[in-house]
Amino acid sequence: MSFIECENLVKIYKVADLEVVALQGLDLQIQAGEMMALVGPSGSGKSTLMNILGGLDTPTAGHVQVGEHDLLHMSRRQQVAYRRREVGFVWQQTARNLLGYLTAQENVELPMALNGVPSRERRLRARELLDRVGLGHRLDHRPDRLSGGEQQRVAIAVGMANRPRLLLADEPTGEVDSEAAEQIFQTMRDLSHDFGVTVIVVTHDVGVSARVDRVVGMRDGRTSIEILRRRDEHGQTLSEDEYVILDRAGRLQLPQAYIDSLGLGELARVRLLEDHIGVWPGEPNSKNEQE
Ligand code: ADP
Repeated sequence: MSFIECENLVKIYKVADLEVVALQGLDLQIQAGEMMALVGPSGSGKSTLMNILGGLDTPTAGHVQVGEHDLLHMSRRQQVAYRRREVGFVWQQTARNLLGYLTAQENVELPMALNGVPSRERRLRARELLDRVGLGHRLDHRPDRLSGGEQQRVAIAVGMANRPRLLLADEPTGEVDSEAAEQIFQTMRDLSHDFGVTVIVVTHDVGVSARVDRVVGMRDGRTSIEILRRRDEHGQTLSEDEYVILDRAGRLQLPQAYIDSLGLGELARVRLLEDHIGVWPGEPNSKNEQE
């Protein structure tokens, strides 16, 4: 079994009399120690999925498991414990990640203090983590004396403070330049490699597929495409392949550009050909259909 298993996951928000289906039967498996990115247009359900995986929100139906935790059937108390011990968060807005009146070191110590870690151990761990993210020389700096990229790396150290098995980062590079973004990704990749932490990053950054091995695209509350990269032992990319995802019910999402190009409507015809499947517009007597 994978570390993270989402099966037919549904999230419906009720706003007044309206229902918004944010996730509509999402299937996704993520292995322990994987570093992957979630991409997709605004409103496709990325944040909803992150909030559920982080124990900040409860799904409406389906199955979602992280390690031994069944996130659909957790009590409030279990949810709080899960959030504190199993997950680290890095948000886009640095103000949400760090307290402005605490130093970098104090910020990293804070989640450990909340979990009752003794002060000496907190100090050592905070220093080690800040060292790991390349900020061992900035321990006593408050956030306003750090660059945006440095603040995000402190935030990663804060996220890792309680040794979570899962690190969730929602647009962590949204407010920094490309050089700082590269450092942030490198930092997460190193931590994933060194500590075996599973990392999920939501991003709009198109360059991201070069920085992670797996990119899952979301559309309308489901996964739609997946890009896998294979590297040699030196980290050089050997291949990059894009797939559409076939879910357990046999559904797949066709790329919008293909749908537009063929003018596919609500009904399409599907044929099994020798080594592939063909899809045609469904209107009777259409030109392609007669071929
Ligand atoms: P993304 O992160 O990909 O932009 P979201 O997960 O934020 O997408 O949103 C998915 C859908 O759910 C959108 O239609 C959004 O308006 C809706 N939604 C998200 N959060 C809430 C909420 N708290 N209340 C009502 N609707 C929400």
